[in-house]
Amino acid sequence: MKLEKIRQIKGKIAIVTGLHIGASNETIEIGGIDNPIIKDPLPESRAPYIPGSSLKGKFRSLIEIKEGRFGKNGTPCDCGNPGCPVCPVFGTSAAVKKSGDLGPTRIVVRDARLSKEWKKRFEEGDLPMEIKYENAINRISGKANPRPLERVPAGVTFDFNISFKVFEDDPEDYFKTVLEAMRMLEMDALGGSGSRGCGQIKFAEVFIDGEKQPDDFLEKIDIN
Ligand SMILES: [Zn+2]
Repeated sequence: MKLEKIRQIKGKIAIVTGLHIGASNETIEIGGIDNPIIKDPLPESRAPYIPGSSLKGKFRSLIEIKEGRFGKNGTPCDCGNPGCPVCPVFGTSAAVKKSGDLGPTRIVVRDARLSKEWKKRFEEGDLPMEIKYENAINRISGKANPRPLERVPAGVTFDFNISFKVFEDDPEDYFKTVLEAMRMLEMDALGGSGSRGCGQIKFAEVFIDGEKQPDDFLEKIDIN
């Protein structure tokens, strides 16, 4: 299996409706709010970012839903079949990888950091995270219990970067899967509380292999 080329998709992720990617419980600061977003662990930074693993996981689950490729109880596809629309692109478990001939996982999704403009504004203290209060209704008492949710506000942009390995004999469909996943993510939501309107995003100023794409290029990706 010979590597033919590495393709690159990069550009901006624009936040359309407040984004909440939760930090895990271990990283919650004492005295912090209940539902903080994930932030750069470096104390001098503490800037919000979008983990590559969150983006990749969301892409994968959208393609699994589209293709009906998930196991019992919604577990990820782990068939290891070269014809699978999920496994070659997004990877398999170590055990399946060992026995199969899929080769390396094709996609690498890097952490998306604040774009230059927003990084500067953040460092100057001009990027307040918003706190949205969501009413969690207690179904028994009927009482509303406001629950704070930290979000990256609409308008903020992050830089994203995806690289994609193409091996000789790989079908074109592998790469197209990534564009389909990006299109589906624009129509879905990233992070938590998507069904309550959080996490709508848009990919903007996208370059594929150094070539600028038209603003509406993702809308033309056929996902049916
Ligand atoms: Zn599979």
